[in-house]
Amino acid sequence: TRWVYAFGGGSADGDASMKNLLGGKGANLAEMSALGLPVPPGFTITTEACVHYYANQRQYPADLKEQVAAGLQRVEELTGKTFGDPANPLLVSVRSGARASMPGMMDTVLNLGLSDKTVDGLAKLSGDRRFAFDSYRRFIQMYSNVVLGLDHHMFEEILDEHKDRLYVTVDTALSAEDWEAVVADYKAAVQRELGRPFPQDAHEQLWGAVGAVFASWMNDRAKFYRRMHDIPESWGTAVNVQSMVFGNMGETSATGVAFTRNPSTGENRLYGEFLINAQGEDVVAGIRTPQALTKIAREEMGEKNPSMEEALPDVFTQFKSVVEKLEKHYRDMQDIEFTVEKGRLYMLQTRNGKRTAKAALKVAVDLASEGLITREEAVMRVEPASLDQLLHPTIDPSSPRDVVAVGLPASPGAATGKVVFTAEEAERLGGAGEAVILVREETSPEDIRGMDAARGVVTARGGMTSHAAVVARGMGRPCVSGAGEVHIDGRAQEFHSRGKTIRAGDVITIDGSTGEVLLGTVKMVEPELSGDFATLMGWADGVRRLKVRANAETGQDAKMARQFGAEGIGLCRTEHMFFDPDRIAAVREMILADDVAGRRAALAKILPMQRQDFVDLFTIMEGLPVTIRLLDPPLHEFLPHTEEDVAAVSQATGLDAAKLLRRAQELHEVNPMLGHRGCRLGVSYPEIYEMQVRAIIEAACEVAASGRPAPIPEIMHPLVATREEMKFLRELTDRTAREVIAEKGREIEFKVGTMIELPRAAIRAGDLAEQAEFFSFGTNDLTQTTFGISRDDAGKFLGAYVDKGIFEKDPFVSLDQAGVGDLIRIAAERGRAQRPNVKLGICGEHGGDPASIQFCESIGLDYVSCSPYRVPIARLAAAQAAV
Ligand code: ADP
Ligand code: MG
Ligand code: MG
Repeated sequence: TRWVYAFGGGSADGDASMKNLLGGKGANLAEMSALGLPVPPGFTITTEACVHYYANQRQYPADLKEQVAAGLQRVEELTGKTFGDPANPLLVSVRSGARASMPGMMDTVLNLGLSDKTVDGLAKLSGDRRFAFDSYRRFIQMYSNVVLGLDHHMFEEILDEHKDRLYVTVDTALSAEDWEAVVADYKAAVQRELGRPFPQDAHEQLWGAVGAVFASWMNDRAKFYRRMHDIPESWGTAVNVQSMVFGNMGETSATGVAFTRNPSTGENRLYGEFLINAQGEDVVAGIRTPQALTKIAREEMGEKNPSMEEALPDVFTQFKSVVEKLEKHYRDMQDIEFTVEKGRLYMLQTRNGKRTAKAALKVAVDLASEGLITREEAVMRVEPASLDQLLHPTIDPSSPRDVVAVGLPASPGAATGKVVFTAEEAERLGGAGEAVILVREETSPEDIRGMDAARGVVTARGGMTSHAAVVARGMGRPCVSGAGEVHIDGRAQEFHSRGKTIRAGDVITIDGSTGEVLLGTVKMVEPELSGDFATLMGWADGVRRLKVRANAETGQDAKMARQFGAEGIGLCRTEHMFFDPDRIAAVREMILADDVAGRRAALAKILPMQRQDFVDLFTIMEGLPVTIRLLDPPLHEFLPHTEEDVAAVSQATGLDAAKLLRRAQELHEVNPMLGHRGCRLGVSYPEIYEMQVRAIIEAACEVAASGRPAPIPEIMHPLVATREEMKFLRELTDRTAREVIAEKGREIEFKVGTMIELPRAAIRAGDLAEQAEFFSFGTNDLTQTTFGISRDDAGKFLGAYVDKGIFEKDPFVSLDQAGVGDLIRIAAERGRAQRPNVKLGICGEHGGDPASIQFCESIGLDYVSCSPYRVPIARLAAAQAAV
């Protein structure tokens, strides 16, 4: 097997299409090399080697050593340096790189190959002893942390002691001798902690680092990140070994990161940050505040330090053309890492840049307009779930702002919450359902869970490409970074800014679109759905086949659904209309009634209210289909349960307390979800369903009579299992509807159908389709009844199932295509065989889940229905499924 792929020197063994094997970083380093861009030579150890490593008790494949030696030799030839040679040492970086980008989650080691001997060689070769020892101390710290597992704070403390001793505050003030002294102390610390010296052999260092990169695939933050982004554990990471170039060789050296467009807004302008005389992760780590790339960006930020365009004009010109070439080549916005060594540019990484949903829309629409991609490709470029970020409120521009600090607008959107200062606290309170804002000096990959649990993040240090900014954008969390005015006092649990003190637990609001931190809560406004959003959704609508409806009961939800582009209501749950305080009394009276006559009397009180509900819905929906599900939950849900509640209800309504309590006890069921509910209510109390059908048809007549578009109600019976049930229900529905139609003298088109939410119903769908004109797959209940898992109680153990890999995903969130999906497929086939034009849809949580929507497309359902806020997500997912 081939485990090693070389790149550099104007050619490469791999290319950009080989991400699965080489990881994203390795594949793109190969592609850039082959394009003739200046990439320091190196080689990639494949993800297959990592998979092999984990499958074989952490043993490397037998022939890996040999192939790595050959790879190293090629790098030595191309660079003219030798690995481990004291006179002319080759130094390398050892970089992780999975198929999918997992920024900062795994480990990288720089300056590898340095030792007491080679550091002298490096000093002589470069003529710069200070640089050599600066590199060595960086290497010892990084290697000790990543490979030897030592805490990096230990090294920072040693460095701080030296700075105190020398009365200096910045690293750049340390001389060659100072760094030598730091290095000596670092090595002594390693010896003390581990009882053995810091490894001096370059090959030992290399294999230590390779093992550490493989191991970092399984560290906690990588695992958490994978779970959050649905990245399979089985993929493994590649390892890139690459010759070092140095951004820390003085004033004509630098390191930086760039986006070809603004990743926050999508604006088509080079965007990024760099640091003179710095190495590697100095930019991302937020240790020094980085400088802008372009003059115009610097001016806009009111910065004094020169931009790259001003400080290194020649390299900048070259850089700009390389970057433009890359964007054209990849036909997408690129996220680029580069280093300048003594005025020479080197490209270290490129990838399709992560971006906010807003930027994703703009970039996709712009690239299509620029002719670089087609409209269909543009539709494919936006992650449907990410639209969620745009569908949420932002701060009302007209509301007063009590600004307490301003930082960088690192991730858009607004959030309000209580201040917390640690990721643990954010996790604890956030987990308990509290809205919190995490306020940190800066964040690191360890904080990722806390960031996820918080509504928003503020950092005092770090730029637009700092860890906090990148991760928050990926999560869709609003973030303000680099708010230098914020002075955090961790011990006192407070921060100070503009003369004010804000304590843990105080409420603040952050505006990630302006970078402002505000005191208290602020009025929010609903999202703007025009512009690029409308354009892209229009393109998506042109592509998709599946219709998208919404689940809605109230007029407000129905209006929202239409604003979001719903093409009908797929599920109106009538019981929600019964809980209204004005109505529940009549509902209870109906439940308490001793006989049919008593129930009819109570139902007669409910009828006009229910009719008005439907009039409102039909009016808003203007002739679009509306699927109305008749009463579904067990009746006991409408009764008070505790003696206190019973007493209160009895007092308020005049209903007899003893009778209420007795009836509640009578209705008690051991297993209510499998109990007296759904169409079983319609069978035992037909008068309830008759009233509902009457209300629906009367409302339709009323709306049609008013001259508005005639509604097309779809009357849906829940929890049907057999042909005979369906026959009974169809007959009841038709008879009642005909009565109303005859009374009103107005022809109304309506349909009768059923939910499919029991395995028997799916399997005997042919029987049901004799009477049912449509099926709506109620996948919440169908998942529950297929797995035999109660969705209300499953929380207790589903986590363990997902953790242990028994369930890849929660089946209530993403449809179990193999099992529940097969039942749906069977039902669709058998239903269509009986009634070719039977209308098929899905309602329930899965109707808004992109992976489940893809499945619905694949089996040719007619529509999906989901909550109003998810309608745009479903429209886009349906379009992508159709492409
Ligand atoms: P991550 O995946 O976390 O971005 P990288 O492997 O890209 O980690 O390494 C982080 C940074 O280290 C790079 O952005 C670059 O600045 C620096 N780096 C990596 N390899 C080299 C190299 N061969 N020469 C100089 N700097 C390097
Ligand atoms: Mg990188
Ligand atoms: Mg149900």
